[in-house]
Amino acid sequence: MASSIFTKIINREIPAKIEYEDELAIAFHDIQPHAPIHILIVPKKEIETLNQATIEDMNLLGHCLLIAKKLAVLKNIDKSGYRIVMNCNRDAGQTVFHLHFHLLGGKQLQLNLG
Ligand code: AMP
Repeated sequence: MASSIFTKIINREIPAKIEYEDELAIAFHDIQPHAPIHILIVPKKEIETLNQATIEDMNLLGHCLLIAKKLAVLKNIDKSGYRIVMNCNRDAGQTVFHLHFHLLGGKQLQLNLG
């Protein structure tokens, strides 16, 4: 299977503004930000969508959420507030089929849940 665009970022085949990395995950700025802070948190394991996640991925998903929190503190949006989003498949508008969390903040976000 061809590697995802996010795996290419992990492998440094294409550039990204990386904010955080460890052995399990990477976080970098979204190329088309929807807010002043818009960072993607991506597990290095290629999981296409949340539908493919299993019990084995439980710690990995929690790990990514804690990275998001850490980045919110680092970017000073933990107190003002932030949103974590994960899109799954077409109706949610998923465009990159390598599971990821969006961290959004730095402005008053619109409450548009659908
Ligand atoms: P989603 O629509 O939830 O699949 O989100 C995919 C996100 O990846 C979008 O917000 C894109 O702007 C972002 N994106 C796509 N390619 C890149 C890239 N090369 N570097 C950073 N962000 C990207």
